[in-house]
Amino acid sequence: MVLDNGRVKHYKVKKLDNGPYFVSKTRTFSTLKTLVQHYSEQADGLCVRLGEPCKKNEAPQTYGLSYNTVDQWEIDRSTIKLLRKLGAGQFGEVFEGLWNGTTSVAVKTLKNGSMDAEDFLREAQIMKRLRHAKLIQLYAVCTMEEPIYIITELMKNGSLLEYLQKDKGSTLSFSDQIEMAAQVASGMSFLELQNYIHRDLAARNVLVGENNICKVADFGLARVFMNENVYEIKDGTKFPVRWTAPEVIRYNKFTIKSDVWSFGILLYEIMTFGQMPYPTMTNYQVIQQVPEGHRMSCPLKCPKFMYHMMTECWNGKEQERPTFETLLWRLEDYFEQDVSSYDDANNFH
Ligand code: AMP
Repeated sequence: MVLDNGRVKHYKVKKLDNGPYFVSKTRTFSTLKTLVQHYSEQADGLCVRLGEPCKKNEAPQTYGLSYNTVDQWEIDRSTIKLLRKLGAGQFGEVFEGLWNGTTSVAVKTLKNGSMDAEDFLREAQIMKRLRHAKLIQLYAVCTMEEPIYIITELMKNGSLLEYLQKDKGSTLSFSDQIEMAAQVASGMSFLELQNYIHRDLAARNVLVGENNICKVADFGLARVFMNENVYEIKDGTKFPVRWTAPEVIRYNKFTIKSDVWSFGILLYEIMTFGQMPYPTMTNYQVIQQVPEGHRMSCPLKCPKFMYHMMTECWNGKEQERPTFETLLWRLEDYFEQDVSSYDDANNFH
């Protein structure tokens, strides 16, 4: 990852079977160190010469907020200071907060009565164990009294949906879009390995940090909220029908494959800079027509291989949809192309 005048560019360092490392096949290096040294001295085809290594100023790499919270993750709410409101969702508000006067965190406050504390705690036990660079880390909770607080790592740039809509393609390039999709696929392939289902994958539930770093948020929460008694599944105002696989609409059958369907919709959101899926249809039409085979057409300026990936995610037979692992390596493969073809206009059809 290289920062070029405020823009992030990606290069993949490749390795031949018999040893040498290279970015472009025209110049190979016996060690990574000599490769870095060479490109530090001259750009030699890269967009810029390599400068200082990127500083990591993402959220602290804590596993929980303190030693105590590792097992005992209920924390005293007086240790959390709410600083400013970041946004509001269906179930409550989100604040930037400071824990113990030192650590920046995000605090999700849940509307009173929006869920059962015990139910949530059971889910949170699992969520705390899910640790991955592309998943929002749950740090701690305050559930002893209402409103319930969910304390997670803070992501400077908010939701991917807002981020895409704000940018509208003015600074984000096609390779940034692929990179963001690959990061989501990476977080999701970890959940896939853990046999964990997200249930509400969408650009609004992906958060963005510095340098386009994307992490999947709110995994599993939908299950706690979307209690069948509370939820009328076909009421489009409460249920994200446009992201929902037909088997979920029909039989309430959530699997990792219904997450793959939602990932296809998320790809559409990324490629259209946050357009509403099925822009010309009502929720009712989506519920009626998608299970009958209706699919969105290829968005403007979207390369065929990306549209092809979306339609694979939208296969009516869920077992025929790709795995997140496959989606991840196919997205990463994009960066396998030779250095000269990155962001090449020829990629667009
Ligand atoms: P939600 O209730 O999860 O839909 O969150 C509402 C809004 O709060 C999102 O759209 C984000 O802009 C913001 N937000 C939520 N979680 C975080 C976080 N961990 N870091 C920064 N902003 C967040």
